[in-house]
Amino acid sequence: MELVKGVHLIETYANCVLFTDGRLVLVDTSVDDTAKDIFSWLRKNGRAPGDVTSVIVTHTHPDHVFGLKAVKSRAPGAKVAAGKDEAEYVARTKVYPGPPGPQRHDAVPVDVALVDGQSYEGFLVIATPGHTPGHISLLDKERKLLVAGDALNNEKALGPMPDQYNIDPKQHRASIKKLANYEFETLIVGHGKPILKGAGAQVKAFAANL
Ligand SMILES: [Zn+2]
Repeated sequence: MELVKGVHLIETYANCVLFTDGRLVLVDTSVDDTAKDIFSWLRKNGRAPGDVTSVIVTHTHPDHVFGLKAVKSRAPGAKVAAGKDEAEYVARTKVYPGPPGPQRHDAVPVDVALVDGQSYEGFLVIATPGHTPGHISLLDKERKLLVAGDALNNEKALGPMPDQYNIDPKQHRASIKKLANYEFETLIVGHGKPILKGAGAQVKAFAANL
């Protein structure tokens, strides 16, 4: 589904996002370790897996990272990027202990360790720890579009992720308050429907009461 021009949502167990304007950047890779929904999107849209230039992983939970190995093996030239405090977990040089439990995805080395405030592939990288230690969100300033991964949740209503999945619930809420300071209209979250208009104001409103 093309949400806005050049931004495609692939709805799997967790949402994946493809940015297709002049580059082919994938954010998150789903729970399916064959990444079949991602490959089928590419096929339907006349793109080959090898066209993917970058894969950015918001965090090391199976529903975001399990497809990474399959994508990387069919797009060997794609750079893999993750937050600097998450990179070792993605690469499994350290096992992420959970919650919800020790992570067992196939290891993929991280090429680019992203830090808070840096620009990468046209995004502002925002460190949003708390759900996991090195979780990142990505702001496309030009489109006023935030990809929040599991820093926010919109399954029933806009809010935090359920605390059973958060390594540090307090820090998770602090990260939501941090996101509320940025200007955006459109919001894509890992779980739940995207919000196309007025998302920043909605986040600001509920973050004030956290
Ligand atoms: Zn998660």
